[in-house]
Amino acid sequence: MKILKTIDELQSIRKDITSNVGFVPTMGALHDGHISLIKKSRKENDIVIVSIFVNPTQFLAGEDLDAYPRKDAADIKICEMCKVDYLFMPEISTMYAKEEIILKAPNKSYVLEGKTRPGHFDGVLQVVLKLFGITQPTNAYFGKKDAQQLSLISQMVKDFFLPINIIACEIVRESDGLALSSRNIYLDETQRKDSLLISKSLYAAATLIAKDERDTKVIKEKINEVMKTLELEYVAIVDREFNELENIEIDNTIILVVAKFGNTRLLDNIWL
Ligand code: AMP
Repeated sequence: MKILKTIDELQSIRKDITSNVGFVPTMGALHDGHISLIKKSRKENDIVIVSIFVNPTQFLAGEDLDAYPRKDAADIKICEMCKVDYLFMPEISTMYAKEEIILKAPNKSYVLEGKTRPGHFDGVLQVVLKLFGITQPTNAYFGKKDAQQLSLISQMVKDFFLPINIIACEIVRESDGLALSSRNIYLDETQRKDSLLISKSLYAAATLIAKDERDTKVIKEKINEVMKTLELEYVAIVDREFNELENIEIDNTIILVVAKFGNTRLLDNIWL
């Protein structure tokens, strides 16, 4: 595995690659969720590029940019074990010019996650477009855990006619159900226990739907009930385009929840 710290290095290698390139963009502090993306990419491509870049433009003022977990040494080992070909770890200063063209994400990026974090997805799209330009992947891998991000990136690829396949990857969970996240390490023991109610509420929703309940109000009530002891930021039931649904559409519904534990926000969702 080669570690590349500059855009020039990566671009000069990339121009000589003629086979399939799989790309997995991350912010590091790699866990089994990231590893599942990397493994899928390894299986499906000749060359695998992983990036680790804690992107400042997607953090709002007062968010955890400075505290965001950084585990470069462990991440490098993980990428080596996963047989990554190129690990791209650029410096912030090389990624951004002083003044540059800004991408404006569509209105649907200002609901749910984007409502709580206005501008967040503008930053995500900006960095992902840059990373796509640098790595020019055939296939790019994203987790369903960040459902709204996945939807917006898929739209960006369509809107800008980028010749890239976006591959959606299943959510990886702890054995007790908690969706893996680099931010889980912020949880204390009690919060970690309480966090189980998040996935429990989604399973309860899935059970109701399996019993033919279709009214999203009833399903939301159930989720609220299971999570009543938590600080619930939002429950949303949307279609794949992120339009709110009154009735469940099998095969076209995502149920999303966000709960807050102090300053830590935990996202989870299920795709029907
Ligand atoms: P991040 O490092 O948080 O920016 O995440 C990098 C990629 O890993 C994104 O596409 C995430 O959606 C994905 N990811 C994060 N957590 C999980 C998980 N538990 N299961 C599957 N993919 C995940």
